[in-house]
Amino acid sequence: MKRAIFPGTFDPFTIGHYSIVKRGMELFDEIVIGIGVNHSKKTLFDIEKRMDIIKQAFNGNLRVSVQSYDCLTVDFAKKVGAKYILRGLRTVSDFEYEHTIANANRQLSGLETVLLFTEAEYSFISSTVVRDLIKYNKDINDFLPPGVEI
Ligand code: ADP
Repeated sequence: MKRAIFPGTFDPFTIGHYSIVKRGMELFDEIVIGIGVNHSKKTLFDIEKRMDIIKQAFNGNLRVSVQSYDCLTVDFAKKVGAKYILRGLRTVSDFEYEHTIANANRQLSGLETVLLFTEAEYSFISSTVVRDLIKYNKDINDFLPPGVEI
């Protein structure tokens, strides 16, 4: 049984994140989405709301679950029995960041990171863009997973 975690801040979870999980399901039997709690990072959505959005997106899908965690990502993976970390890549700057973290995580625990390139149409979508649109009262439906209401 291949289980992966998909860790992130997800403030909020976007259609870009959703696409990575959907495509990851072709590779893994189970994906545990992990919302990392970073006390020094102020988020727009609290942890309950971020969980609720992800639950709405994968409503009824028994192969996808969501949990929050307040520890190192490698320790969270160990806790849920996952051997893989799934992440998405949009840009060269994503690559540099992911490369460093993936090497650190493999060194720490032997966990492999699997990176999927974003679908071109979602390459500019980020939680930051969605938060900016909310700030200026713009419609964000196209940026959220299908069926999700904030
Ligand atoms: P973090 O703060 O850990 O980077 P994010 O919630 O911003 O958390 O992102 C989680 C993961 O999703 C990261 O691997 C990020 O590169 C990826 N990601 C974010 N937006 C997209 C997108 N539009 N397409 C593909 N991957 C994405």
